[in-house]
Parts: sequence; structure tokens; C-alpha cells
Amino acid sequence: MYDIEKYYQAVDVDDAVRALSKDPEAVVISGGSDVLIKIREGKLAGCSLVSIHGIKELEGIRVEEDGTIAIGPATTFSHITNNKIIQELIPILGDAVDMAGGPQLRNIGTVGGNVCNGVTSADSASSLCCLDAILVLKGPKGMREVPISQWYTGPGRTVREHEEVLVSIRIKKENYEGYGGHYIKYGKRGAMEIATLGCAVTVKLTEDKKQIADLRLAYGVAAPTPIRCRETEQSVIGMEIGEALAEKVGKGALTEVNPRSSWRASKEFRLQLVEELGKRALRQAVINAGGEWDA
Ligand SMILES: Cc1cc2nc3c(=O)[nH]c(=O)nc-3n(C[C@H](O)[C@H](O)[C@H](O)COP(=O)(O)OP(=O)(O)OC[C@H]3O[C@@H](n4cnc5c(N)ncnc54)[C@H](O)[C@@H]3O)c2cc1C
Repeated sequence: MYDIEKYYQAVDVDDAVRALSKDPEAVVISGGSDVLIKIREGKLAGCSLVSIHGIKELEGIRVEEDGTIAIGPATTFSHITNNKIIQELIPILGDAVDMAGGPQLRNIGTVGGNVCNGVTSADSASSLCCLDAILVLKGPKGMREVPISQWYTGPGRTVREHEEVLVSIRIKKENYEGYGGHYIKYGKRGAMEIATLGCAVTVKLTEDKKQIADLRLAYGVAAPTPIRCRETEQSVIGMEIGEALAEKVGKGALTEVNPRSSWRASKEFRLQLVEELGKRALRQAVINAGGEWDA
């Protein structure tokens, strides 16, 4: 049984913002795969819900005239993975969300819910960090844009205000064009498992495909929030592709992360994963960017 005080189905985004403004305790529900679990566990028992499920303006993926990819936050994981735009332009995101839960979860869980829950283990988060996603919020005062680098404020916390609805996840052309990417999730089992560690790398190579022109390295569960390893990224620009590069990425990441011990894994094991997954994701990202690893 679910202990829910009130349930309001919003007809559009403005209606949802109004409903949230009227009730300071109300909680947005989209796919419900986080919210309903919390209600059943008692953490949100007796809450009021404002549903954005079924609001068409929050669903779907399109490419705008300037090449920006606009993702509706209420788009489910399975729609993201199967979408042609995602497959052609940012396959790393489709692959990442295809590793969440099992098929039923991926048919109901949304990318917006995955970002708004603020958790470090969210499978979309590290790829969206590499893609420098911009999160667009709508509230009573209008719209505002938040770069994902400024989104997370702590474990399970974001800058989103209570009455704001995430209305779009935007990825600019300059952040995906010419890049290859790869996401690796390490979990204790293959499916229905939250990440013990997640690592995403996107890389752009020089024209001859021999050196790093740009590299982005992001982790989930390596710190209280998803993080980018910016010093490591800067330190490898111009490096030749090869094992020295992989070593520098793996070792560099270790100096920037701050994982904790939990029942899933010790801090020491997570540090080992940080180094190893960083190298492995890098190798595949280089290949996906058109490079040869043994060159
Ligand atoms: C069995 C199971 C397995 C799971 N496995 C994984 C996994 O492997 N990887 C993973 O990353 N996650 C996993 N999850 C967590 C969850 O499915 C995801 O986080 C999912 O993306 C949540 O999306 P949702 O639409 O269901 O969110 P909801 O539960 O509807 O909402 C989640 C949070 O986001 C807020 N919210 C949602 N949409 C908006 C919006 N547009 N604007 C403002 N606030 C919003 C809600 O208020 C709530 O705080 C799992 C969950 C379950 C139940």
C-alpha cells in the first residue's frame, strides 16, 4: 500500500508549477520509480504528489537548428536508448541508461528523474557531465538554465527549487560533435543493480587521430556527487594515444576523487575501480572517436 495524502495530475508545465507553488510539501512524480519506493519505505509516507507523467511537452528528443540536442526530461530510459538522434549523435547516453535496472524499470524511469534525484550513482549522470549538459528549469519566475557542473549541491541534493520543474536537458553541438565516448558501470551483478562505480569518458582526437585534442572524464559514486576530473583532463591534452596516456588518466583521476566505503564496496576497492575503469573507458572512447589504441 502507498501512503499518499493527495495526488494531482498536472495538465501542463505551468499547471505543475502552480500546484507546487501552492503546496510547499508536494513532491513531483514523473515515472515514480524513485518516489514510489520512498513512499513505500516510509521516507515520503503521507506526501502529496504533483504528477508530470504524460505531459507531452516534457517528452521526446529533437535537434535544434544550431545542432543543440534537446531532451525532454520525461523521456524514459528505453526511449532514449532507442532514439535515432541519441544513437547517431550521443550514443554514450543511450548506452549508459540502458544499464539501469531491468527492462520494466527502463520503460518507466525517466532521464529527468535520474538527474533530479541528485544521486551520485545515477547512470545518466557521468555521461551528461562529460557532455556538459545544461538543465533548464521552469518556475513561477520563469526559466533558468543551470550547467550540470553547478547542479549537484550534495548527496541527493540539487539547486532545483521546490516549485521548479526540469523542462529540458540540452547538449550543445560543440560538446558532442567530433567526440567519441564510452560509459562503464561496475555493479555487483549484471542487472537490477545500482552502480558501485560508474565512469564516462568522451574524447576528441587531433585530425590525424594520434593525439588528444580534448578529453572529459567523469565518475559516479567516486564522490558524494557525480564529478568531472578537470585537472586530469587538462593534463593530457596533446598527449599521444597509448599506455602512457592511460596511466596518466588512471593515476590522475585518483588525485581528484573522494569515494567512501559502503556495504557495496570499500573505499579502497572503489579507488581501484576509478583507475581501472578510467583507463578502460578511455581506450574504448578513443576507438569510438576513430583512433587506434595500439597506434
Ligand atoms: C528496481 C529499481 C532499480 C533501479 N536501478 C537503477 C539503476 O540501475 N541506475 C539508476 O541510475 N537508477 C536506478 N533506479 C532509480 C530510478 O529508476 C531512476 O533514478 C529513474 O531515472 C527515476 O526516474 P523516474 O521518472 O521514475 O523518477 P521519479 O521517481 O518520478 O522522480 C525522481 C525524483 O526526481 C524528481 N523529478 C522527476 N522528474 C522531475 C522533473 N521533470 N522536474 C523536477 N523534478 C523531477 C522527483 O520529485 C523525485 O525527487 C532504480 C530504481 C528501481 C526501483
